[in-house]
Amino acid sequence: MTFDRAAALDRLGSEHFDVLVVGGGITGAGVALDAASRGLRTALVERDDFASGTSSRSSKLVHGGLRYLSQGDYRLVWQALAERQRLLANAPHLVRPMPFVFPSYGSRAGVRAVSSALWLYDLTGGFRIGKLHRRLSPADAVSRAPGLRADGLAGAHLYFDAHADDARLTLAVVRTAVLDHGAVAANHTRVTHLGAGGADVEADGRELRVHASVVVSAAGVWADELAGGGSASIRPAKGVHLTVRAELVRSDVALVLRAPSDGRSVFVVPWPGTGRVYVGTTDTDYDGPLDTPTCNAADVDYLLEAVNASLTAELTAADVVGSWAGLRPLLAGGTPGRRSTDLSRRHRVTRFRDGLVAVNGGKLTTYRAMAADTVDEVQAALGQRRTPARTATLPLRGACRRTTDLDAPVARHLFSRYGSEAGAVAAMVATDPALGEPLVAGLPYLRAEAVYAARYEMACDLDDVLSRRTRALILDRDASAAAAPAVARLLAAELGWSDEDTAAQVNRYCAGVEAERLAAAAPV
Ligand SMILES: Cc1cc2nc3c(=O)[nH]c(=O)nc-3n(C[C@H](O)[C@H](O)[C@H](O)COP(=O)(O)OP(=O)(O)OC[C@H]3O[C@@H](n4cnc5c(N)ncnc54)[C@H](O)[C@@H]3O)c2cc1C
Repeated sequence: MTFDRAAALDRLGSEHFDVLVVGGGITGAGVALDAASRGLRTALVERDDFASGTSSRSSKLVHGGLRYLSQGDYRLVWQALAERQRLLANAPHLVRPMPFVFPSYGSRAGVRAVSSALWLYDLTGGFRIGKLHRRLSPADAVSRAPGLRADGLAGAHLYFDAHADDARLTLAVVRTAVLDHGAVAANHTRVTHLGAGGADVEADGRELRVHASVVVSAAGVWADELAGGGSASIRPAKGVHLTVRAELVRSDVALVLRAPSDGRSVFVVPWPGTGRVYVGTTDTDYDGPLDTPTCNAADVDYLLEAVNASLTAELTAADVVGSWAGLRPLLAGGTPGRRSTDLSRRHRVTRFRDGLVAVNGGKLTTYRAMAADTVDEVQAALGQRRTPARTATLPLRGACRRTTDLDAPVARHLFSRYGSEAGAVAAMVATDPALGEPLVAGLPYLRAEAVYAARYEMACDLDDVLSRRTRALILDRDASAAAAPAVARLLAAELGWSDEDTAAQVNRYCAGVEAERLAAAAPV
């Protein structure tokens, strides 16, 4: 088996599949892995790049979601915390425990309220990570997060959740489905028409008919568009994150802060090994274009105000080195007028006539459980006896707990991205030491990683490499734009681009960076 797009397109046009999954975000990836590992002949198509939708734009927390407890959604938190544990076991290279400090300012009543919430979190499954939450004195909190304001700090709590690079997690799930379980997957392949017995797709200007007994719609916020635009099953809610340099925030732990304007929780999350910290998120109803949600000046002000209220740093918009906006595919329905913050993060699987199954809603953390429910319905639609999902204990590609023998920071970096496959990247550097040079100034990625992405991770363009195979765009947009010409030349040699192609790739990427910067400075 290879993870090769040309071979996948050939098979898409010539084979008959039990199930075709539309959408290569975490949900579709999970469905493809579950289906293939149950022995179904499985195909997956993604119109842009794997994880290019919401699944590269999340808060990157594999968590139960403390705030869903205050909404009384204990079942969701219980399920998510069970899934968190499975991911820690099945992808230990990608999903890592992360300590969180939750400071409480003002009265001691606030400290007691956080304490009760965290007891409930532990009882709902937080305990599974092996550590219960504990109370910290103000001095102890400040020693762990020196950037916290000490004045008015009544107390704090320490608890544990987990963190993952969402785009790489999605890619790992797709690669596992293909390389270990025989699924066929192609990115940059758009479904143009859904119908009984399969779908029409368009790839590289070519039209193909993919024959499949069942089609699964896993198109996230595009679900209604894919279905023909007649229904309104999804209510998108926008969330924004900002990246700043770690030395401005001064905290080795993640922080949960209160936004002064509305009391919502805002996370400050150090991204291990990158020297960057990100802050997020907002949660606002969204009715703009689905393909281009942007972070605007009001979003930036809201998040910086939350950080500046609890940290000694006085961050301004000039300190923001990256930003991203994503759309939550929340389930529509329920009480009209409810704020998006209050809408459930549960998922829904619907089986229609004509062999169509749709999966909507959910969270990054719960993708595996969503996929299991979906493939149960796929088997019902196929008229098959239901077989149990195998994914609860199925390792993802690269899963292992050991590091490679490269020098420490590089080894840690490669391990956190490739796990047991890190040796393949290291071998490229051993053969050609120039590939061991940095890809983007100030970030830990190596030139070898761009080459690896083109050869083994189905990266097809510059944006695939700088936005998702590496996270250079969101970690440092200007540095990524400055590196774009050199990275494009590296990719040109792998992907056979002409000089014009290469220039066009650079222009398109840099225009995207510029548009993002302008949007972040624009009022709503
Ligand atoms: C701001 C924010 C923060 C979040 N934080 C967290 C968090 O910390 N933890 C957590 O667990 N969850 C979090 N979530 C939720 C989580 O990110 C989403 O639930 C999840 O990523 C949705 O994945 P998806 O695959 O359903 O959708 P998507 O990732 O959007 O995937 C759908 C895919 O379908 C493709 N597609 C659409 N139309 C077609 C077509 N015609 N043909 C082919 N492909 C098509 C799209 O290109 C897209 O890639 C967050 C969400 C947001 C917005």
